[in-house]
Amino acid sequence: MEFIPEVVPPGDIQDDSIWFAFHEGRLLMFRDEYGAMIPQAQRFSDLGIAHRQPHYLGRLEGQHCFTVMIEQDADIPQGFYLQDLRKLAMEVDPHLFMLAGRARQIVEWDINHQYCSRCGAPTEPHATDRAKTCPECGYTQYPRISPCIIVLVTRGYEVLLARAPHFPAGMYSTLAGFVEPGETLEMAIHREVFEETGIQVTNLRYLDSQPWPFPHSLMIGFHADYAGGDIQVDGVEIEHADWWAINSLPNVPPPGSISRFLIDQYIEQFNSPRR
Ligand SMILES: [Zn+2]
Repeated sequence: MEFIPEVVPPGDIQDDSIWFAFHEGRLLMFRDEYGAMIPQAQRFSDLGIAHRQPHYLGRLEGQHCFTVMIEQDADIPQGFYLQDLRKLAMEVDPHLFMLAGRARQIVEWDINHQYCSRCGAPTEPHATDRAKTCPECGYTQYPRISPCIIVLVTRGYEVLLARAPHFPAGMYSTLAGFVEPGETLEMAIHREVFEETGIQVTNLRYLDSQPWPFPHSLMIGFHADYAGGDIQVDGVEIEHADWWAINSLPNVPPPGSISRFLIDQYIEQFNSPRR
């Protein structure tokens, strides 16, 4: 599915557009005989749901896409429901899931930047860019993206997985953390892995990245080899970490997550005769 991002909508949209509409972070959907669907309409106001100013996203397979924030006190008409984005991955095509994440980040950014962060005046949308400009002081605010490293540490047949107190019971995942000002991705990995588990790593290899709209992360995924140290967790951010043999892993995140991708990739590489 080809998606072409754009900011300014064409003036003459006659066909139905796809509407990614969010209410307190959840996506407006409905179910028909074809399954779970994202609403389509010429104008969102046709659906009779109170909403804020829409934002144009671009074209998916030629069809125009918008995102819009539903007013907090709006009534959701019968037949529609609100879906948690984390669960959406299992219901719709991966391209639609990615686009829903993009849409959510834009409406969240919009609502959080109604005023200039420098002088406090109401902001105005930029004429051509995805940005907000302050008419008083000229400051321009762009959507914020927070880079976050995520890393599978390996030791031959074993991988290092940890769990945070807020994880579902029994679930373990790869280590992750936000990149701090002034850090390279590599510095962030060395620091986070050591802070969270007391382990030192080497031979970092980039594999893939994934936008993660909760609320505006970009997960940047690596493999790293064990270099030294014994596992020590702080009991707050991480409650337990351990080495797991790749043939007897605990519960790990579901397919579609970058954490799972890093784990599956390592198992595949390890079992590949070409290594
Ligand atoms: Zn200002």
